[in-house]
Amino acid sequence: MDLILYNGNFVTMDEKFPKASAVAIKKGKIAAVGYDSDILKLADEKTEIMDMQSKTIVPGFNDSHLHNIKYGIFTNCCDLSQCTSVKEIIDVTRQFIDEKDIAPGDWVIGRGWNQDKFDVKVFPKREDLDLISRVHPIVMFRCCSHLLVVNSKALKVLGINEWTPQVEGGFFDVNSGLFREAAKDLVQVSLRSYDVPSLKNFIKKACEDLIKQGITSIQTDDFNMSNDYKRIIQAYKELAEEGNLPVRVTQQCLVGNQKELEEFIQNDYKGLNIKDFYRIGPIKILADGSLGARSAAMRKPYLDASYTTGILIHNEYELKKMIETAHNAGYCVAIHCIGDKAVEIALEGFEYVRNHFPDLSLRHGIVHCQITDEEQLNRIRDLDLIVYAQPIFLNYDLHIVEKRVGKKLASTSYNFGKLIKDGVHVLFGTDSPVEKFDPMPNIYCAVTRKDTNGHPEEGFYPEQCVTVYESVRSYTYESAYCTYEENVKGKIKQGYFADMTVLSHDIFKTSPQSLLDVKVEMTIVDGIIRYNANSNS
Ligand SMILES: [Zn+2]
Repeated sequence: MDLILYNGNFVTMDEKFPKASAVAIKKGKIAAVGYDSDILKLADEKTEIMDMQSKTIVPGFNDSHLHNIKYGIFTNCCDLSQCTSVKEIIDVTRQFIDEKDIAPGDWVIGRGWNQDKFDVKVFPKREDLDLISRVHPIVMFRCCSHLLVVNSKALKVLGINEWTPQVEGGFFDVNSGLFREAAKDLVQVSLRSYDVPSLKNFIKKACEDLIKQGITSIQTDDFNMSNDYKRIIQAYKELAEEGNLPVRVTQQCLVGNQKELEEFIQNDYKGLNIKDFYRIGPIKILADGSLGARSAAMRKPYLDASYTTGILIHNEYELKKMIETAHNAGYCVAIHCIGDKAVEIALEGFEYVRNHFPDLSLRHGIVHCQITDEEQLNRIRDLDLIVYAQPIFLNYDLHIVEKRVGKKLASTSYNFGKLIKDGVHVLFGTDSPVEKFDPMPNIYCAVTRKDTNGHPEEGFYPEQCVTVYESVRSYTYESAYCTYEENVKGKIKQGYFADMTVLSHDIFKTSPQSLLDVKVEMTIVDGIIRYNANSNS
């Protein structure tokens, strides 16, 4: 044996053997699970033996949807997520330019602003950004990334003016400097020329932080971070081949339209797996925007903005065609749907392929799946769809969802509890960097249905609360299910990858409120201790 962990509180997620005190690891795999006396006997002179001091250990967390490279890039951006006014955005960015000594002409990228946190709830505009600098092109992403604002210098550099044609699936306005959905590409194209070595650096930076949060696997949607997605695949491939990828990565392959989808399928990446550390996963399609920016596509106008029903990125025929094409090429499809209209057309498309090509039992799913009615929830169950949920979204959304869509629809939205009870495969993730990828606040929100300040006291539609156990299962076993890895990942079980996370508290016994105080003490991936809070500086 290479490593034996004993005197631990292993919560295995394996129904047949839910608890254990010791685990033996050999060649990156779990060789045996059991009690101290039995497992310690397996030691030989080369075995490293570690006393876990009764700490709680769970299978490594698997974030089922995030944007890894964007996170890596964002660590180099100006953080606007704490700003409570447009003025503060201006001050913070000025300071950032000074501190980083950014040369005139170089891009300044800000991220994370949210007008709902402002005293006056308006978007920052071009003229506000011009007060920061007229010599630096500036772009600032809203926290949801579905909306951005630029200054005059940026428009000049990009050659965008009032004669520039609008982009299908999006909208921009030169006066305000605001770009929504597909129109953001006009700006992003000049930010996304990274070469493979810089992409590798962003990935490494992100993975270092993931490991500290006990995350051992991710499913990441990165393709819109480069003008050439092949560079992204290349960057991950090289890292995996070099053994420099500390986290197991599945790529969610974002395609913008039918043409891109067909081109991607032609390249035949399906089934790519580099040493179980980098895999090509589902086709990812965006159906709409975000609730915060009111670009989530709704069947009825927003209650607090009756002039709009949001933005549908593809009409139902386009979406159905894309689902059909991917399905028949043997790809799973994961569709970003936040509004109930987006959910509706995704369901139509999935129903179509399930009925017409039923022998392909692919693990299709809906990412976010926020605004839903009861009938849609039942169709999700009946169509055997996966739901990629982000309970941490409740931290913010529980304050706005009733205002946006009304109480009736709110009561059947974010219904993760019902879905889990109905036996739907509900996976947890964070959509980082939209939210932080720390698992504990995410589990806290799923369990309490409260924001991180403890509001509302009784929880937001508390009948949808799930248990800590269900949350961990969604974060481990279920996340492995959607990538067809449920027989090697997501449980502490003989033959499974030795990917485990050691926690500071027994999360299955602590009060829900104190989940927020739980720390990750150690992260083990492939049998290697990749993070140890007590020895890392
Ligand atoms: Zn996302």
